[in-house]
Amino acid sequence: MNKQYDYLIVGTGLFGSICAHEFSKSGYKCLVIDKRNHIGGNCYTEKIDDINVYKYGGHIFHTNDEYIWKYINKYSKFNNYQHHLKVNYNNKIYSFPINLFTLYQIYGIITPEEAKNKLDSFRNNNIFNISNSLEDWIINQVGRELYQIFIKGYTEKQWGKPCNELPSNIIKRIPIRLTYNDCYYNEKYQGIPIDGYTKIFNKMLNNIEVRLNTDYFDNKDYFDNISDKIIFTGNIDKFYNYQYGKLEYRSLYFHTQILPINDFQGVTTMNYTSADVPYTRIIEHKHFDNKNQNGTIITYEYSTEGDGNNDFYYPINDDKNNNIYNAYKDLTKLNNRVIIGGRIGGYIYCDMDKTIANALELVRKETGCPKNLMN
Ligand code: UDP
Repeated sequence: MNKQYDYLIVGTGLFGSICAHEFSKSGYKCLVIDKRNHIGGNCYTEKIDDINVYKYGGHIFHTNDEYIWKYINKYSKFNNYQHHLKVNYNNKIYSFPINLFTLYQIYGIITPEEAKNKLDSFRNNNIFNISNSLEDWIINQVGRELYQIFIKGYTEKQWGKPCNELPSNIIKRIPIRLTYNDCYYNEKYQGIPIDGYTKIFNKMLNNIEVRLNTDYFDNKDYFDNISDKIIFTGNIDKFYNYQYGKLEYRSLYFHTQILPINDFQGVTTMNYTSADVPYTRIIEHKHFDNKNQNGTIITYEYSTEGDGNNDFYYPINDDKNNNIYNAYKDLTKLNNRVIIGGRIGGYIYCDMDKTIANALELVRKETGCPKNLMN
């Protein structure tokens, strides 16, 4: 017997919303549910005092993929924001990611050649002595002093583990440059949706049945029965009742303040890299838009342990957790009614462009349609 819906989609973040939007466009009937009281997942922005506030932390769109850039631009115009942040370490301000100006601030180095010689002097040419730990890798790139100022405190707060127990791939996301370019990202296309991300989700989910404040696990049997297929974008371990154990993840706690001044820190993001400061960064939302509103809103970001109930932000992709994840993934392969994906479902530390690419790939596979999804 045909079920009421072709797809039940659990989660209205990027992955879930794109799936819902594209499947609906192809004529499939979708029901989208979310346990939160709003759509958009962690990209959600809400307007307070005419300022777009990133309720779950700043999200800067950046990609080299022209197709993905054009795709997302169909749902919103983007401003030309480029991410330039600063680091505060023991009340001194530094340029970051590590670039020629950072090396000038610390060593008085002026030219790219001097910078190269300096970084070369830190290299241990005996690669067999270097483990894959984040600590070994970064010290071998930039030396101990820069590691101490920029990496150690921030990373250990962020991940809740010592740097010598973390894999180096976490830090390889960040460029190290021998020029004065201090843009945080290398990608060709960058920006922030004008008027925030929520608008994008409103457009994508327009005309699709969405039930908010609706937790799949409160009514699992009911939801499993009303739809042919389920696309689940939440915690995969919970979906399988933790039968292979819990996956570790990091969560975040945000403390937001509305201030009666026009500019608090002069930049969107200030990273606090010292272990003595409990938060990792402060974002000042209005600087993402550059609109000069009156007053300002800032958010302190604290990294916390994932306890199974708080929100998921970062997977801990070490061998132990990846093995558990792969065991759950194998269960999914055995069940052709269930698809588990997105940054949370897929247990991957990936950016928005990759999440969109993964969702579009799934739609192409499911619909058997290799066509351009741009129309
Ligand atoms: N990181 C750091 N110091 C900084 C910023 C980042 O040590 O000032 C490290 C930290 O381990 C972090 C990783 O680099 O988890 C990736 O940083 P990114 O800014 O890409 O993290 P996200 O914005 O995804 O939280």
